Amino acid sequence: MTTVQVPTIKLVIDGQFIESKTDQWRDVINPATQEVLAKVPFATADEINAAVASAKNAFKTWRKTPIGSRARIFLKYQQLIRENMQELAALLTAEQGKTLADAEGDVFRGLEVVEHAASIGNLQLGELANNVANGVDTYTLLQPIGVCAGITPFNFPAMIPLWMFPMAIVTGNTFVLKPSEQDPMVTMRLVELALEAGIPAGVLNVIHGGPEAVNGICDHPDIKAVSFVGSTHVGTHVYNRSSLAGKRVQCMMGAKNHGIVMPDANKEQTLNAIVGAAFGAAGQRCMALPVVVLVGEAQSWLPDLVAKAQTLKVNAGCQAGTDVGPVISKQALARITDLIESGVNEGATLNLDGRNPSVPGFENGNFIGPTLFSGVKTSMRIYQEEIFGPVLCVMHADTIEHAIELVNANPNGNGTAIFTRSGATARRFQEDIDVGQVGINVPIPVPVPIFSFTGSRASKLGDLGPYGKQVVQFYTQTKTVTARWFDDDEEVGALNTTISLK
Ligand code: NAD
Repeated sequence: MTTVQVPTIKLVIDGQFIESKTDQWRDVINPATQEVLAKVPFATADEINAAVASAKNAFKTWRKTPIGSRARIFLKYQQLIRENMQELAALLTAEQGKTLADAEGDVFRGLEVVEHAASIGNLQLGELANNVANGVDTYTLLQPIGVCAGITPFNFPAMIPLWMFPMAIVTGNTFVLKPSEQDPMVTMRLVELALEAGIPAGVLNVIHGGPEAVNGICDHPDIKAVSFVGSTHVGTHVYNRSSLAGKRVQCMMGAKNHGIVMPDANKEQTLNAIVGAAFGAAGQRCMALPVVVLVGEAQSWLPDLVAKAQTLKVNAGCQAGTDVGPVISKQALARITDLIESGVNEGATLNLDGRNPSVPGFENGNFIGPTLFSGVKTSMRIYQEEIFGPVLCVMHADTIEHAIELVNANPNGNGTAIFTRSGATARRFQEDIDVGQVGINVPIPVPVPIFSFTGSRASKLGDLGPYGKQVVQFYTQTKTVTARWFDDDEEVGALNTTISLK
C-alpha cells in the first residue's frame, strides 16, 4: 500500500522557498470534501527573525532602486497573474470553498491593486514650492520606511495579501507577510509569481502560523509598520500591542453591514442585489449585507425576498451553477448553527432554514444554505454578532431617519447600502451615515484602488486605509527639504541669528 504524501507549505526567506524546522503543523482542508490539501507550518521564532533580518538587509538596496524599475516589476506581475488566473482561482476554490467565478473575482480585485502599483511613478511624487524665500526652494520626498508586515484573513486569500505587499514594496519598503493559516496556498502561488516577476531576494518574505507568529511580528523591533485585516477582537489586540506603540498600524476589522431598502427602490434589482450580497461567498465577506432594513411599505417585500433566497443552489464551489459554497471549517459551521439556534430561542422568525442541506457527492462538506430571519431585534445575538455565514437578518424601520439611527447605533461601520430612486434620500443617507463604505444602489461598494478602502468605528483602527492614495502615505515618511544654493561669486550676506528666511 502506498501512502499519499501531503505537500508542505514553504516559508519564503531571502528569496528561497524553505521547509520549516517547526514541529507544529496544521492541515489545510478542502471545505467541500475535508481532503487534506497541504500542511502549513507554524514558523519558529528563529524563522521569523530570519525573515525580518532578510527584509532589513534587502531594504538597504531596494529603497534606492529607481522608481521605474520598481514599477516595471509590477507591470510584469500583473501580466503573470492574468496568465495564471484560472489556476489561481481553482486553487482558491479548493482551499477556501467559494465558487470559481467568485474566486476569479477575489484574484481580480487584488490584480487591480497590482495594476495601480505599476503607476507608482505618479503616486509617490513629492511637492515643490519655488522661492519660499530669496533663492530658497522647499520640496518633499516621500521615502520608504523600512520593513513592513501584513497579516491576512481567510476570506480573501488573494485580494487581501495583494492589498498589502505590492503597494508596500513598490514604494520602496521590504515586506514580511503572514497569510491565513486556513488557506495559504493561493497566497503562496501569488508570492511565487511575484518573485518570478522580479521582486529581489529578501524584499518579500513569508512566514506562516497563528497567534504566536502574529505576536512575533508585532513585537519585532525592526518592523516599522503593520497592516492587519481580520476580526475585530484580533485587530484590536494587534492595534493595542504595546510593542507597536508609536509605529504605523492599520487594522481593518469585523462588520455588520446594513442594506436599507426604501419603498421607491427598483424592487427586482434591489432584491437580486440583496440576495447576492447576503448569501454570495456563503456570507463570508466583510462587505456582505447580513442585515436588511425594509423601510415603510417595503416591508411587504419580505415574501419575495424569501422566495429569491430559496432559489440559490448550495453545492461545492467547483461545480457549475453553484451559488453558495461551503463555509471555511467545521468550527465555523458549528458557530453559525449555534447562532441560528440562538435566533430561534430569542424569538426571531426563521423564514428560511438552511441548516443541513443535502449536497449529493459532497456529504462531508461544511455546507449551510441561505437562512433568513425576520422580526430581528437589536438585543438578539444574531444581530449583535458577526455571523460570517449565509444568514440574513431582516428588520423594519418606519422612516429613513429611523433606519439611519439603527445603522449608526451598531458598533460596526464597515459598509452599508441604500436602495432608492430618490436622489434626496440617497444624499441624506450619504451625509448622515457613519460608515466607511457607502453604496447607493450598489450592494457591495468596495472602492477601486484609485481610492482607498476605509471603515468607521469598530471596523477600523488607524487613520489610513489599505491600498490607493492613503496607503502611499502609510508606507512612506515625508521629508521636507529646504534648500539654498550659492554661486561662487555671490555676495556674502550679513550674519543672521533669526529663524526667518529672506
Ligand atoms: P481572524 O481575526 O481570525 O484572523 C486574521 C489573522 O489573524 C490570521 O492571519 C490569523 O492567523 C491571525 N490570528 C487569529 N487569531 C489570532 C490571535 N488570537 N492573536 C493574533 N493573531 C491571530 O479573521 P478570519 O476569521 O481569518 O477572517 C474573518 C474576519 O476578517 C471577519 O471578522 C471579517 O469581517 C474580517 N475581515 C475584514 C475586512 C476589512 O477590510 N474590514 C476584510 C476581510 C475580512
